[in-house]
Amino acid sequence: MSAKKDANFATQCIHGGLSPDPQTGAVMTPIYQTSTYAQEEPGKHKGYEYARTGNPTRTALQDNLAAIEKGKFGICFSSGLAAMDNVLRLLQPGDEVLASDDLYGGSYRLLTAVFGPFGIKSRFIDMRDPANVEREISKDTKMLWIETPTNPMLNIVDIEALTAISKDHGIISVVDNTFASPYLQQPLTLGADIVLHSATKYLGGHSDVVMGAVILNDEETAKKLYYLQNAAGAVPGPQDCFLVLRGIKTLHLRVQRACENARQIVKVLQNNDLVANIYYPGLEDHPRHEIAKKQMRDFGGMVSFDLKEDTLEAATQVMKNTHYFTLAESLGGVESLIGHPASMTHASIPREQRLSVGLTDSLIRLSVGVEDVEDLVSDLEGALAAAVSTSVD
Ligand SMILES: *Cc1c(COP(=O)(O)O)cnc(C)c1O
Repeated sequence: MSAKKDANFATQCIHGGLSPDPQTGAVMTPIYQTSTYAQEEPGKHKGYEYARTGNPTRTALQDNLAAIEKGKFGICFSSGLAAMDNVLRLLQPGDEVLASDDLYGGSYRLLTAVFGPFGIKSRFIDMRDPANVEREISKDTKMLWIETPTNPMLNIVDIEALTAISKDHGIISVVDNTFASPYLQQPLTLGADIVLHSATKYLGGHSDVVMGAVILNDEETAKKLYYLQNAAGAVPGPQDCFLVLRGIKTLHLRVQRACENARQIVKVLQNNDLVANIYYPGLEDHPRHEIAKKQMRDFGGMVSFDLKEDTLEAATQVMKNTHYFTLAESLGGVESLIGHPASMTHASIPREQRLSVGLTDSLIRLSVGVEDVEDLVSDLEGALAAAVSTSVD
């Protein structure tokens, strides 16, 4: 049964926006695998005409997403970047996006290589200090693109402070909430205009689907985005919508366990002589620890670190020797992943720019999964030990 408005988060994950199938009573939302819908007479139908425009499985997911992000409207796209692409189409040539200088590589590429030639300007700035963001706003700035925690440096920016500034200047604020998931933070409640997700990550949660989503409160902007969803057509299929709906039912359990496991992993890294820097917002000496505590329920399952021997070779030795941490791009699934941003997710960002934000050659990023933490700890300790013995040889 659909969740009541005041229901808490886990209840919203399982029930938010959902009700049993009106036709059959099926408790789980059916996969409406159809491209078109019968009409009684021309123009007389049950609310669905063609599946690019609408599909009941997608509608259920969109309503569920709105519930878990505490927004009015949810809109799904075929990937996180397709969601971003549609959000950027709200802008006009000459408009400028101010984005965080420590941004998901694909977002950087979309802004610079795809929208740049169409006259949408973007600048990448340090958003950790809100005063700096305010200083950087120009007369053309129309959108603030916020990521927090950032990828892969796990920087934290103060959502409430930045959305207050964007409101003062009449700028649309967008928060890419992929890393935190709505279990950890709900940017709309902190003043954001638009929340964006790569649902491929924590929302789907099982590394078996690619999808994006946008959640917002403003009806006029929502209408524009529904229009674009249909007009540009980057829609997800019903099977994928079903998978993400199913993923969200355990979002709170998965993210909670990932947070607990990450905390233990960080302790192991702190006690290892090979490790140079650890990036994790749960550390008390993380420069924005207090803000993370203020705006997040817990500190997430993402941990980055680099090595005292700051070379790709040293990092490769570690990554080659893990067993459960699978070397792969992406994050947010039940299984633990290990990755090398400089050569993988962030390869499209110039090296100078990478180094200027601390993204060194040996930086390793972990997406801590929900396995038994003892197994993850011994896996990582073993891989670090193997890297030492190889470097001694
Ligand atoms: C993966 C990711 C994206 C892009 O999403 P896709 O589903 O891969 O298109 C955007 N932002 C962040 C933070 C991501 O991790």
